[in-house]
Amino acid sequence: MAAPSTNANPPTAILHRTPWAPPVAKNANGIYIDLEDGRRVIDAVGGAAVVCIGNSHPKVMQAIKDQVDKVSYVYNMQLSNQPAEELAKNLIANSNGAFDLCGFTSGGTEAMESVLKLAIQYYAEVGQPKRINFIARQLSYHGNSLATLSLAYHPTRRSLYVEHLDSKHFHHVSPAYAKRFQKSDETEEQYVERLRQELEDKFIALGPDTVIGFVAETVVGATTGVLAAPKGYFKAMKSVCDKYGALFILDEASPFINAYTKTHMSFLTQIMCGMGRMGSLHAWETLGDGAAPDIQAVAKGLGGGYATIGAILLSKKVADGIRDGSGFWKHGHTYQGQPIACAAALAVQKVIESENLLENIRVQGAYLESLLQKGLQGPNAFAAPYTFDIRGAGGFWGVEFDFTEAPSLDFKGNPFAMRVQARALEHDVIVMGMTGGANLEGTKGDHIILAPAYNVRKEEVEKIAAVFVQSVEEILRESAL
Ligand SMILES: *Cc1c(COP(=O)(O)O)cnc(C)c1O
Repeated sequence: MAAPSTNANPPTAILHRTPWAPPVAKNANGIYIDLEDGRRVIDAVGGAAVVCIGNSHPKVMQAIKDQVDKVSYVYNMQLSNQPAEELAKNLIANSNGAFDLCGFTSGGTEAMESVLKLAIQYYAEVGQPKRINFIARQLSYHGNSLATLSLAYHPTRRSLYVEHLDSKHFHHVSPAYAKRFQKSDETEEQYVERLRQELEDKFIALGPDTVIGFVAETVVGATTGVLAAPKGYFKAMKSVCDKYGALFILDEASPFINAYTKTHMSFLTQIMCGMGRMGSLHAWETLGDGAAPDIQAVAKGLGGGYATIGAILLSKKVADGIRDGSGFWKHGHTYQGQPIACAAALAVQKVIESENLLENIRVQGAYLESLLQKGLQGPNAFAAPYTFDIRGAGGFWGVEFDFTEAPSLDFKGNPFAMRVQARALEHDVIVMGMTGGANLEGTKGDHIILAPAYNVRKEEVEKIAAVFVQSVEEILRESAL
């Protein structure tokens, strides 16, 4: 009997997420991955900006082996375990007092799903069960389960499931995307005020005492491509939540960690990297105007690809609400706090700290930006007329293209960003193309994400930038009518 695959050669028994069967990885070391077909490719985007210290780091491999020799699994409703307890303490201790308790999940979607349920539990415990509504933003991403697809809003990602999404309890306001949606006669402050007013209007329309909270990604990852909000935005949005006694919830499951932002010229890290003592702050402390969330989700870089793990972090206010009520989390999963996953995540965070990798990625990230600017927007850059924005910081960069003014290009039904991704892979470099982040309908826009591991070297950055620019140029030239 034939293997159940359409385009696969050789055949595969996996129901893949792509219309094609992806090449198979055999060995990986650092940012290099050896494929079954004999090729060696460079991963310039850390998978989905997950891999932050490369593959096969000896310290992490040793930590995993050591843990396998001790305890591989216990069930979290019967027993806790040492690496889980230690990782939780590490996350809380490095949160600068922002968080009081931590809960583990198996990934980002589970973390956001858990955040929703925890917020519901919180208001039940503090005697406000009338609160039933969540407000999130258009062009956001919070995960791939039905509840998180209901919470987030990206038209094409949710279209297949619309009948099954919950539109009664999940509501949406505009994204914070100045370069596309700030009006030409508006200052940044006026734009922020317009967004704040929209949120307040939404609260009032729903009934302020029915709102559980406002949910946002501190930096939008996949859907719009490494997008930070305008200055003052998060403070303004939090002020609305505070005014009506609702929760301010941040999804930092997105990979935008350990970077510094061009916008605010400040150093950005994420609590999961335990870098507080380096004098650096959390994402929301810099990019989020210091607006501390009541609950936060983290994932991807927490395990750095070595472990399927995510976490939710509770502020003292929310932790106290639970402690003064039932005192426990009315939610859980089989692999929550899995010992090997927690040992791996702890080792990843320790490597980032001990090898001073934030410093390295700040330097290499700035270098990557300069190479991208020169190659895509410089005086001799072929792609300059189509390069709309190069944004990001540290280890996370988005390049957005715009072809509104380019009727002489024909991508033959295959979006530009996806063609660049495919071409770069032909040149042995993995990048991530995405579409549909430039309008609210999700039908326009091409962006490509680069997110190399924090220990990337100078010559590797040069290679990544060169292949990326070359791939962009090739597709542009081939698409000229
Ligand atoms: C990746 C991501 C998720 C989902 O995480 P998974 O581990 O893929 O389930 C949710 N929210 C944001 C902001 C993310 O970047």
